[in-house]
Amino acid sequence: MTPGKWLKFCPRCGKITDDLIDSLCRECFMRAIRLIEPEAMKVSVGMCRICGAYFRGGETRISIEDAVVHKVTREIRRRYRDRLGSCVVEVKRIVKDSVRRRAIVTVGVKAEIRGVTVEQTGEIEVDIKTGTCDRCSRIAGGYYAAIVQIRAQNRFPADDELATAVEIAQSSLSGDDFVSRQRLLKEGLDIYVSSMECGRRISRAIVKRLGGKFTESRRLYGRKDGRNIYRASFAVRLPERGGTK
Ligand SMILES: [Zn+2]
Ligand SMILES: [Zn+2]
Repeated sequence: MTPGKWLKFCPRCGKITDDLIDSLCRECFMRAIRLIEPEAMKVSVGMCRICGAYFRGGETRISIEDAVVHKVTREIRRRYRDRLGSCVVEVKRIVKDSVRRRAIVTVGVKAEIRGVTVEQTGEIEVDIKTGTCDRCSRIAGGYYAAIVQIRAQNRFPADDELATAVEIAQSSLSGDDFVSRQRLLKEGLDIYVSSMECGRRISRAIVKRLGGKFTESRRLYGRKDGRNIYRASFAVRLPERGGTK
């Protein structure tokens, strides 16, 4: 009596093979794997309903598409870690119905599962939660940290100077900076800006372009989280102008 070789077979398709993974043949095993699970991969991103930017704390503001790609990619990396070969994440479209706004995302994942490289493509949805970002709520609240005061020596600044100053102020904004208010006074123009650095940058640029000088002063405005909060004034004084005295 010769001991017959015990035949291994795949219980799902009946194929006889020694190459069983999790008791399934390679084909059935690969078919049973779901690399992309819409329910388990639920993520959401926040978006500002005013400026449309994605936000999360003090992070740099990026487009909603970039935010979605970033979030989904991070979720896939977290799931597959070192078994992840590659992943491609693309926002197909953003849909908005009466209830919610969401991004339909195409995801391609290549990962090694129990020694087998599996590649799959699927679609998942990302919830987009709307709110108001820090910057927009500050603008809405008229927030400012500095005032750039445009004045001229023994005269009122000319219209073209004020136009140039405003233009310089707008083009000197960077990152989350903003101009929250402009006030025309009998002695000149006040430009309210979101940060001290921004006020200094604007003043420096105005003096560089139009001449004159500026002085800086600050006063204690309040305390927040145990720190003193100051508001600065930048007094820009444009030089005298021949004939316009
Ligand atoms: Zn099978
Ligand atoms: Zn915003």
